[in-house]
Amino acid sequence: MKILVLNSGSATQKTSLYEIAAAPPADPPAPLWEGLIEWDGSFADIRTSGPAGVRFKNRIQIASRRQVTEQLLSDLWTSAAPLLKGPSDIAVVGHRIVHGGQEFSEPAIVTPALKTVVQRMSVFAPLHNPAGLEGIEIIEQILDGVPQVAVFDTAFHRTLPEPAAVYPGPYEWLARGIRRYGFHGINHEYCAQRAARLLGRDLQALKLVTCHLGNGCSLAAVRGGRSVDTTMGFTPLEGLMMGTRSGSVDPGILTYLLREDRLTAGQLDDLLNKQSGLAGISGISNDMRQIVSAMNAGHPRARLAFDIFIHRLTSLIGSMVAVLGGVNALVFTAGIGENSAEVRAATCANLEFLGVRLDGSKNSQAPNDREISATDSRVRVLIVRAQEDWAIARACWTLARANAPSL
Ligand code: ADP
Repeated sequence: MKILVLNSGSATQKTSLYEIAAAPPADPPAPLWEGLIEWDGSFADIRTSGPAGVRFKNRIQIASRRQVTEQLLSDLWTSAAPLLKGPSDIAVVGHRIVHGGQEFSEPAIVTPALKTVVQRMSVFAPLHNPAGLEGIEIIEQILDGVPQVAVFDTAFHRTLPEPAAVYPGPYEWLARGIRRYGFHGINHEYCAQRAARLLGRDLQALKLVTCHLGNGCSLAAVRGGRSVDTTMGFTPLEGLMMGTRSGSVDPGILTYLLREDRLTAGQLDDLLNKQSGLAGISGISNDMRQIVSAMNAGHPRARLAFDIFIHRLTSLIGSMVAVLGGVNALVFTAGIGENSAEVRAATCANLEFLGVRLDGSKNSQAPNDREISATDSRVRVLIVRAQEDWAIARACWTLARANAPSL
């Protein structure tokens, strides 16, 4: 079964093609093909690659998102080395949808009703949900009639117990949908499953803290494969310090700024989402590589940005461990989690009191799914590569098989 996965963001669209035959393999396979669109004002950069490397590259003027996506996908069937006979070779298309609200707690086949919910949830995820919906509608136009599946980033956190999910504001907030949803769920769930496999343990018996540290950063406390707490909440702004996002700050600061500086909601949004975090503190960059190299060159604000990042990470990992009542393994994932030996080393050094001990040489080796804790570490430490597209492809396969066993 050939499965196309679209991960549509406001500035990029990642696309992958997977093939799953009788059953998904236990270890993630490489995709047959990958595509990337980077939207840049009135232009788009398109790049596709296969196992042999780059297949196609182009920069085009954007007439519509549909036309750009069409050009990207046409590489699959009209290039000199087509991978597919035509669009009808694609059995199902999966989409990452950031916010499924309270209605969707599992991957689901796209229907008009589902699209309405995704649209309605756009007020809670204004950058992400409209892009996901647009991806669905473009595929409806290009691959008329192909079944589509929505996989939600909020869904894994549906199991948050009420005390973790409900904000201690007025009770009426809950009825209005103002509650903690949590995000990055597709990857947190995947990492928990992958960690169990790498450890050779039953997921049901494990207490895990998964640390998704990319441009956006969040933690999940996972007990027996279920999310019981997480650091992002109503929006992806709560919790850890991030590339350009502040993470949690005293809400009193916001009312102070509203009163004193007469900021609008849009200006506040901009401050907290785009001018804060590593970029806001360092004044250099949102990119952890640049923060670390400036810090090593003696830049005091880069040092402060790194130290706040580690302080907050330590403190929130502690909070997740307390909620779990102990921890068997810590899992580092996403851009920073997979690649920054400095961040892992500094965080784990702070957690030695829990019995966390890194193997320094394993920690500094090239990334792939592996254990990096010392043999005498009471808490195992793992790096797991984020594989959201593969996780979505697997979910599509399961749902497509259940709905149309002949596929
Ligand atoms: P996104 O959340 O947009 O998917 P990624 O998961 O790609 O982002 O993570 C981006 C972050 O990963 C950036 O802060 C980048 O600096 C960091 N990163 C990528 N490679 C490295 C590296 N080798 N060392 C440290 N940080 C890295």
